Amino acid sequence: MDGSPAPVIRTTCPYCGVGCGVLARPTPAGVEIAGDPDHPANKGRLCSKGLALGETLGLDDRLLEPRVHGRKVSWDSALSLVAERFAETIRDHGPDSVALYVSGQLLTEDYYVANKLMKGFIGSANIDTNSRLCMASSVAGHKRAFGSDTVPGQYDDLELADVVVLVGSNLAWCHPVIYQRLIAAKAARPALKIVVIDPRRTATCDGVDMHLAIAPGQDATLFNGLLVHLATERALNRDYLENVTGVGDALRAARESDLAETGLPQGQIEAFFRLWTGTEKVVTLWSQGVNQSRVGTDKVNAIINCHLATGRIGKPGMGTFSITGQPNAMGGREVGGLANMLACHLDIERSDHRDAVQCFWASPTMAQQPGLKAVDMFRAVGAGKIKAIWIIHTNPVVTMPEADIVRAALDLCPFVVVSDVTAATDTARCAHVLLPAAGWGEKDGTVTNSERRISRQRPFIEPPGEARPDWWALCQVAQRMGFAGFDHTGPHEIFAEHAALSGVAAALGGDFDISAHAGITRENYDALVPFIWGKIRFFADGRFHTPDGKARMVPVAAEPATPPGRYRLNTGRNRDQWHTMTRTAKSPRLSQHLAEPYLEIHPDDAHEVGLSAADLVKLRSPHGTAILRALITDRVRRGEVFAPMHWTSQNAPMARIDALVAAQTDPMSGQPDLKASAIELFRYDAAWYAFAVSAQPLTANSTGYFAQMKTMNGWRAELAGRTVPDDWQAFARTLFALPEMPVASVIDAKKGTARFAFHEGGRLIAALFISRRPLVLARDHIVAGLLGEQGVLAGQPGGDQADSGATVCSCLNVGVNTIRAAIESGRAMSVEAIGRHLGAGTNCGSCRPELTDLLAKYARLAAE
Ligand code: SF4
Repeated sequence: MDGSPAPVIRTTCPYCGVGCGVLARPTPAGVEIAGDPDHPANKGRLCSKGLALGETLGLDDRLLEPRVHGRKVSWDSALSLVAERFAETIRDHGPDSVALYVSGQLLTEDYYVANKLMKGFIGSANIDTNSRLCMASSVAGHKRAFGSDTVPGQYDDLELADVVVLVGSNLAWCHPVIYQRLIAAKAARPALKIVVIDPRRTATCDGVDMHLAIAPGQDATLFNGLLVHLATERALNRDYLENVTGVGDALRAARESDLAETGLPQGQIEAFFRLWTGTEKVVTLWSQGVNQSRVGTDKVNAIINCHLATGRIGKPGMGTFSITGQPNAMGGREVGGLANMLACHLDIERSDHRDAVQCFWASPTMAQQPGLKAVDMFRAVGAGKIKAIWIIHTNPVVTMPEADIVRAALDLCPFVVVSDVTAATDTARCAHVLLPAAGWGEKDGTVTNSERRISRQRPFIEPPGEARPDWWALCQVAQRMGFAGFDHTGPHEIFAEHAALSGVAAALGGDFDISAHAGITRENYDALVPFIWGKIRFFADGRFHTPDGKARMVPVAAEPATPPGRYRLNTGRNRDQWHTMTRTAKSPRLSQHLAEPYLEIHPDDAHEVGLSAADLVKLRSPHGTAILRALITDRVRRGEVFAPMHWTSQNAPMARIDALVAAQTDPMSGQPDLKASAIELFRYDAAWYAFAVSAQPLTANSTGYFAQMKTMNGWRAELAGRTVPDDWQAFARTLFALPEMPVASVIDAKKGTARFAFHEGGRLIAALFISRRPLVLARDHIVAGLLGEQGVLAGQPGGDQADSGATVCSCLNVGVNTIRAAIESGRAMSVEAIGRHLGAGTNCGSCRPELTDLLAKYARLAAE
């Protein structure tokens, strides 16, 4: 080090499919993060998650060395063991007895070698990815309609459109930067209309022109109705339909749909149909609400049918747009990371495609048929058919439907390898071999975002300990299994090979062609600027990748998509968390937004179940149980409840929501339905409730209710139970692992309340508040008191101190009470005014829908 500041490195955000460009600069105090103004996806913007990336790079829970059965070993012995056990299993039980389960977190180069090893050298297609849970229905829908998995347009189309329809997408929380671009476009051009189709009134619905609170699973019914309306109104584009087959069949099937199934008022349906039909520039964007369905592929095709029928595709401001959840779901699709695909969008079911890839790889064998998709893969593990599995950068014990069955299957599997940045995951606990992987900021490669834009993820810090990139570990195992073609010296060589193979694919009529980069040097790879592969927009010319070159309109049957049962469970994401929180939970700022697992439930349903605000509710399905905090709101419809999917055994053992979800899949895509599981609800009658703060993390307690999150100075936790401990002080000492520390206490046996505070050197290091009822406390005041010298046992700030309340603006740390006070004082009666007075909403903008919501609530109350 010569003492000069480290250079700014251009890289890409590792979270959602928007794929924002990030500027990262290591400093002695940490890593400075900013949006890259030159990246076309975000043009300098970042959301709260992206802005907090610098807070997620700590090494506190990093896996720093390979481990076998929990013992530290060398890379050499760990890799040799993996190669030996995989080779032995294949020799004894055949290639389909092993599997790889990978992730949209992998860089394209990692993905490429994983797929090559499995399909071209092991000779099985048993490689699938957690992208199966994210957008497999879009892949299947694209292939049915276009003959290829092609996203036709780009982000600019959302700003160029006159109508943007968001279907099953909480864009404001799940793809915040694209949402901000869209809202900015509407602010500049109010004639741009935004329609949201979603059973829930999510943050995305605030301030849009129309929200259609459709019945779960009925999107295809609505778009079938739209198709019939387009035909009736003579709005079909006859010229464009020369390039499309299946029009008559699609219309006949659409006429069978009954719009009453959508549950929408007739007037609202008509208004939506009129708007869509009368506007040429329409973009329909969808996400998990469409894909994560037992009829997801049909939903995708019902939407595409309407765009094909009108020729509104592949032109500026017109088209269909599937936005992906993960940063490199698209890269995974390009390399064939799904069990039913080949590299470079080639088709595993076509012998000429298989032969071309095998010839290119000079591989000894080739998978002859699709492998097992995620749900079937873990079923095969449970049935003992898959005897060795390597799981890379994903946590299926939390995220797969019927997650407890997945855990049981892995517990019984003879050989489980897990590559990850941490050993502290539910899945890593099932591993025989743990391989320490390089994480974001250390990895080197490329990712592809939802608009087909390939960007570099560049390293700016050294991998800690013995962490290594995944492509390296995969190539090492391949070489130890005796396979040639895995001697790459860096990711640029893998990128070049992938690019060369794309030229072979293009010669076979494929859409994915980056062969111009086949000879790329390390220098040029390092300098690679973000680029969209293929055409900027596909299909305006009416030419498709089907054998006859025509698109297919697919007849979509009107099937009842909703399972029976009193309550239907919808699962999804929070604004400030990502997947199973292995990264975002390290950020205290992000952790303060919705710091506890919750269940959104309609007030009438809450009444029926006997729930009051802040009560705990027990969820039960045939597959599992959970306990969550009731969040009573009319944002969900009656009979429907919503819970986030982020919590794990490490932070809330009774909130692993996917344990309840039935592993029911779409027959075409194999994507599980994570949006409509039949469940029962009960009030959880706790005998006691508690709130704790601690400078040290608490050990997760799986009896009763336990949920903890990080704070600026330590951790906060909510607890509840049915059995009252004999001695609360002993309970507190065990909880905090402080057997000897002096304690201050306030106990009221009659009221059933107790409060304990532990100090060290005059500073508060732990406190526990207990009551027979859900606790009303100024939690943020108590959290702020941790490691301070002020007393917190009163549970409320003194008369001269305000409690800012739960965090709304994570960037500037502005709490809900502060915002409410500003609104009530009349000083801040608009989102802009809140920004001027408090700063909230002026940085990343992710909280602006919540600010709008607070203003609307105040206006409603004021009007009453
Ligand atoms: Fe990352 Fe947020 Fe951009 Fe998504 S929208 S890529 S999470 S900064």
